Amino acid sequence: MSEPQQRVDVAIVGGGMAGASLALMLAHFCPHLRVRLLEQRALPDAAASVELPSFDTRATAIAAGSLQLFRQLGLWPALREYCAPIKRVQVSDRGHAFGAALSASEQEQASFEGMLGAVIENAALGPILHKALAETPVELLAPARVTGVHMDNCGANLHWNAAEGGPENVLDCTLLVVADGVDSPLCRQLGMEIDTVKYQQRALVTTVALQRDHEGVAFERFTPSGPMALLPLPRREGIHRAALVWACAEKEAEGICVLSEDARLQRLQKQFGWRAGRFIKAGALQGYPLSLSLAREQWRRNVVLLGNCAHFLHPVAGQGFNLTVRDCYALAQALAQPRLQQGAVGQLECLAAYGENRRRDQRLTVGFSDRIPALFSSGNPFQQVVRQMGLLGLTLIPPLRQQFIGQAAGFGL
Ligand SMILES: Cc1cc2nc3c(=O)[nH]c(=O)nc-3n(C[C@H](O)[C@H](O)[C@H](O)COP(=O)(O)OP(=O)(O)OC[C@H]3O[C@@H](n4cnc5c(N)ncnc54)[C@H](O)[C@@H]3O)c2cc1C
Repeated sequence: MSEPQQRVDVAIVGGGMAGASLALMLAHFCPHLRVRLLEQRALPDAAASVELPSFDTRATAIAAGSLQLFRQLGLWPALREYCAPIKRVQVSDRGHAFGAALSASEQEQASFEGMLGAVIENAALGPILHKALAETPVELLAPARVTGVHMDNCGANLHWNAAEGGPENVLDCTLLVVADGVDSPLCRQLGMEIDTVKYQQRALVTTVALQRDHEGVAFERFTPSGPMALLPLPRREGIHRAALVWACAEKEAEGICVLSEDARLQRLQKQFGWRAGRFIKAGALQGYPLSLSLAREQWRRNVVLLGNCAHFLHPVAGQGFNLTVRDCYALAQALAQPRLQQGAVGQLECLAAYGENRRRDQRLTVGFSDRIPALFSSGNPFQQVVRQMGLLGLTLIPPLRQQFIGQAAGFGL
């Protein structure tokens, strides 16, 4: 039997990191709004295998600014249990002696409980966000796959079904938030174009067991085959662990993925070097094709795009989700305006104010994520000097250092 047609103030399509974070913020800052979230897959559950793309085997560096927001939402006690603090960031260029170190202790304003940020495995983050969401009035529909959208004067009519070939349901909403990930079919249907530049790189991701404690250091290492990040993870069963992300050329990535376990371990150690000590084991590598995707318009009357479908960035600086958290906060603040009546959440002025508010941070964060890998993977001798000067500058020049820490800590610019 199909569900009767219904109307809500806000419908969010996609229950990944972006959709779930927005839903939590709306529940907290805009309790007067009726919000429904539609996710095509079964929701993540700590006991079940994790099926949502956001909550796979990756780990996410959550910046101090995002942690502050999650604390406001009451999530910090649950997150803390699964997070490894980032106390220091070490940036270095392979084959060169210089490196820059940034520490939380020297930057109180940009830190959260003495850390620059924290790292959590996505498989732990998903159940935490969705468990918190289940305790709010937000209505969760899952599995619920949105198959089409029609806009009218009052908002959007969403067509969805719970199973392939199952009965079609319709949901009307005043504001439609599209958070269905990169290469969104809904954006295409709405005619909201997305510009994509492929980096011809793949991010290889795995967990490594370390011989010694990482002591809360996150390493950002630039190598001729692309940037690598080694992020601290909480110890498990007494084993020191770190999450490794290596963005390398497509061809090279293919070769590395088929190496035997031992050969893979040696390759990763050789590539990263010894700054974090010996790698004693490395898990299977997962590969993610990398591109810079930017929606030409992120909002229009009754519609907002959020998360990967609005901007998909190079993961080198760990900025994508943190930028989305700031977008979610700004949108919730815009919708919480007391003068905004319930039926007006899709109004152009409100969404334009949101867009204007986010313009600068998005431009700078996207530029930061885009330029850093290009600069640090170049073999051009001039660029090599520039990046060495950059690392030296990070060490020696306070304003540059402050700016880098502010960006890395996720407070936006
Ligand atoms: C290798 C890698 C490492 C990263 N590391 C970091 C990091 O350290 N720090 C950081 O800040 N960011 C990081 N990021 C970025 C971060 O992962 C993204 O910002 C995040 O995944 C955005 O999630 P999303 O919810 O927008 O999209 P998705 O994760 O793709 O979620 C979209 C959701 O929509 C659902 N959906 C799709 N279509 C429909 C439909 N028709 N109907 C209903 N539901 C639908 C999907 O099932 C899915 O659950 C990293 C990214 C990569 C690739």
